[in-house]
Amino acid sequence: MLVLKFGGTSVGQPDRMKKIVRLITETPGQKIIVLSALSGTTNALVRIGDFLLKEDVIAAEKEITALENHYQSFIAELYTTQTFKAIGQEIVSRFFIFIRLLAAGQFDDKSYRELLAQGELISTELFYQYLQEQKINARLLPALHFMTIDENEEPEVEKISQRLKPLLKSLAPVDIIITQGYICRNHRNEIDNLKRGGSDYTASLIGAAIQAEEIQIWTDIDGMHNNDPRIVKKTYPISELTFDEASELAYFGAKILHPSTIVPAQKNNVPVRLKNTMDEKAPGTIISNKGTEGTIKAVAAKDGITAINIKSSRMLMAYGFLRKVFEVFEQYKTPIDMISTSEVAVSLTIDNTTNLTSIETELRKFGSIEVDTNQTIICLVGHKIGGQQGILEKVFHALADIPIRMVSVGGSTNNISVLINTVFKEKALNALNGDLFGLK
Ligand code: ASP
Ligand code: MG
Repeated sequence: MLVLKFGGTSVGQPDRMKKIVRLITETPGQKIIVLSALSGTTNALVRIGDFLLKEDVIAAEKEITALENHYQSFIAELYTTQTFKAIGQEIVSRFFIFIRLLAAGQFDDKSYRELLAQGELISTELFYQYLQEQKINARLLPALHFMTIDENEEPEVEKISQRLKPLLKSLAPVDIIITQGYICRNHRNEIDNLKRGGSDYTASLIGAAIQAEEIQIWTDIDGMHNNDPRIVKKTYPISELTFDEASELAYFGAKILHPSTIVPAQKNNVPVRLKNTMDEKAPGTIISNKGTEGTIKAVAAKDGITAINIKSSRMLMAYGFLRKVFEVFEQYKTPIDMISTSEVAVSLTIDNTTNLTSIETELRKFGSIEVDTNQTIICLVGHKIGGQQGILEKVFHALADIPIRMVSVGGSTNNISVLINTVFKEKALNALNGDLFGLK
């Protein structure tokens, strides 16, 4: 069984939706189709929710009307027959009545999450009805019947698998099974979600739960690239990556994949293929446990990083110091990305600065603190590049003109990370593109 996930841009226009129907029907065997909301919808729902939380009902209503109009024109183009145009009309009216009901009630966090779920609920229903109009046999399997997260917001992989297997068995003669990405139920049985961009994660969780042959993520780019195409002119899609390489790239900046996506796939050894809906012949990127060793495959950059330096003579030849430092970050639920230490000082980086002031106050108890904002992590990724002779020389040679704030190497053999001020990012990515990949 295959799991195929189509992102917002792949379903965002009626002709694209029609195109993916062709892609799906041309793919043999039983498959689960995971759909995102139409592009722009979740952003609009976030804006509506934010207005409602601020009790700005007028601004919210304006956004709701604009979104409803968008859906009206969408269905007008999607369906051909009067019967299905009327069905589409009924679906859109029903959703917008519900959205307005949410808006009119006591709007809290729970209503907000329900509001956010409407994007995927409507896209899958419209898509399902389009298949009906085309007389293609398909079923809609509600994600809210099987996708759950626990009290720590972690997906309940085992339970998802236990629920999904009998459900799929009962649908066995049907080749096309459609479900919603992103949405789930939480431990209070309320509607919740897997965080922005979470449809990829849904696809991977399903793929892992049913031990799929392959998870395909269809987006609007032809795979993971060796460098950031928004910053450097020449890049190319990487044909093969290991799970570890892909995780590092997804986490450190490659926007194509939700960073948690790889985890369930890797645990169950289900390959993930990245494909381009706009260019279906392009080979894309295959992510699996196979890979070539010793070369840098890609460079990614993560902005918005804050570096914190803690200097303390108490650290000199002492033990337990780092534990105390880490406990502060644990207490404020703030993940650390990079770390480098000397005998009397430690530097580390974070990207979530929500609790920075409190963290600083706590850390001052240990020594003097310096904080640098606007930093960028440049992450170089390749299977077993860690111990390779000459690799660091190449990297530092490329970055010879750029001041480097921190370096981290040896933590994983797949990654070399360098911290620089964001003003040097463009220069660094271009220099690395030239020196490492011969692309000037
Ligand atoms: N619709 C959700 C979002 O825009 C989930 C997704 O597209 O993956 O974040
Ligand atoms: Mg996405």
